[in-house]
Amino acid sequence: MMMAQMNSDERYWQAVKKRDRRFDGRFVTGVLTTGIYCRPSCAARHPKRENVRFFENGSAAREAGLRPCKRCLPDHVAPDEAAVAAAVKRLDAGAATLDELAQLTGYSASHFQRVFKRAMGVSPAAYARARRSARATKALEQEGKVTDVIYDAGYDTPSRFYADAPRLGMTPSAWKQGGAGVTIRYAVVESALGPMLVAAPHQGICRL
Ligand SMILES: [Zn+2]
Repeated sequence: MMMAQMNSDERYWQAVKKRDRRFDGRFVTGVLTTGIYCRPSCAARHPKRENVRFFENGSAAREAGLRPCKRCLPDHVAPDEAAVAAAVKRLDAGAATLDELAQLTGYSASHFQRVFKRAMGVSPAAYARARRSARATKALEQEGKVTDVIYDAGYDTPSRFYADAPRLGMTPSAWKQGGAGVTIRYAVVESALGPMLVAAPHQGICRL
């Protein structure tokens, strides 16, 4: 019993030191000297280990007389996760502006931008770009005219796609022709967005 407690505390402390956001919502970190409790991933400077107590959740920490941190808003983990999930679903289905996402989730645009970036590691715009470019890349591998593919993938204009195209490592037409004459190696790597395709043509490494 005593041993199990020590082990979980040690695991929690390691998560706090790494600001591991996978632990957000699983416990909160109370700091006795400041009277504040935080989510494990809080970006604030780490407290001294001896001043830290772990609580199962915000209400247990409040019962012990602590107040929620104004920076990481530890009681907002569940609503934030739901908001990010809703935005990801929306962006996976097609383009949406930050204002549209904010309206969808009931957050202000600037606050939602921060919440999304904290959860996903990239801004909503960067996530949308990655999704769009992945959709276009997939479509280019199949049939269809390059310009149709570009519009279908959610680009307003072909020039927007060409601005993203350096990530493909070649021009969209070359990609459409199966990359004739261009040597590309692929690897799937883990990223904040889930598995991501990385292509390495002769020009260097580019992310899709
Ligand atoms: Zn905090």
